[in-house]
Amino acid sequence: MGQQAEAKWWSKDTVAVVTGANKGIGFEIVRQLAKEGITVVLTARDATRGAEAIESLKKQGFQNVNFHTLDVGSQESIDALAEWLHTTYGAIDILINNAGILDDPNGVNLEIAKSVLATNYFAVKNVTKTLLPLLRDDTPGGARVIVVASRLGQLKGLPNKDYVTTLTDREHITEDFVDSFVNKYLEDVANGNHNKGDWPDLTKLGWEAPVETYAVSKIAVIAYVSALHNTLVARHEGEKKINVFSSCPGHVRTDLAPNGIKTVEEGADTPVWLALHSPKEGLGKLYGERTILDF
Ligand code: NAP
Repeated sequence: MGQQAEAKWWSKDTVAVVTGANKGIGFEIVRQLAKEGITVVLTARDATRGAEAIESLKKQGFQNVNFHTLDVGSQESIDALAEWLHTTYGAIDILINNAGILDDPNGVNLEIAKSVLATNYFAVKNVTKTLLPLLRDDTPGGARVIVVASRLGQLKGLPNKDYVTTLTDREHITEDFVDSFVNKYLEDVANGNHNKGDWPDLTKLGWEAPVETYAVSKIAVIAYVSALHNTLVARHEGEKKINVFSSCPGHVRTDLAPNGIKTVEEGADTPVWLALHSPKEGLGKLYGERTILDF
């Protein structure tokens, strides 16, 4: 399955940070990385839920886990985490952006749309941008940033073909374009124009739940990962190496998807595999089941 694995390069001195990790796929990502002997920072927005998660891992025998609060929607909180990471570890090797929320089950409204995009898109950018300087220069094979995205962000759900053309132009996609794509969606929601044919209607692809904004947010993070890859290649070629990937965990049974068909162990597998093995042929791309997926 998948590509050739590189030799084991990680140890207890390897530091990974996972967002939204008090439960669900994020918690399991922490557990699997800790099982590899890596030092893992479990972050959660709620200190009590975070402490309970750490307690449960320690009871399972993992002493190589640590906690810090992180509300991905707050720049103050992200800055506090960055400062603590710098003081505690000096640098990190792996960042996994996992925190995410779903649409309002009653349909699209502006307030919820803003909050879904703030958590699933803008926060991923803010966390990544703030922690980027902490990523180690000398992680073997390069430091790694993984974004937990979704197949709901694949472009077959997006009817506007002009957007599809620009978003799939991997070499030229920019963060500014992705921002403008997201902001246009929010403008259309604000004006009541979001259901006029430009934006994903996943009921046409067999989804019962209204997941329009969620789909836009996942399209945006997948495109952001490509854009970030381009930025990093341009900025850091020969200087500091950081490998970025997006990943769909599959339809996983969690509080976010109670009818999911995969276990959290299965859902965490690909993000963890990417963090450990960083396949060179997939830089900036979307993965599922350890395989490159079409955007
Ligand atoms: P989950 O069990 O609901 O977990 C979501 C996690 O994100 C929770 O820890 C939650 O914290 C956290 N979170 C939400 N907003 C946050 C914020 N502002 N700051 C920090 N943490 C925040 O859902 P999951 O299924 O594990 O989802 C994890 C990721 O996988 C998400 O990005 C999701 O979109 C993606 N995904 C899931 C599926 C699936 O089938 N489950 C499929 C595709 C993609 P609280 O406990 O405090 O709310």
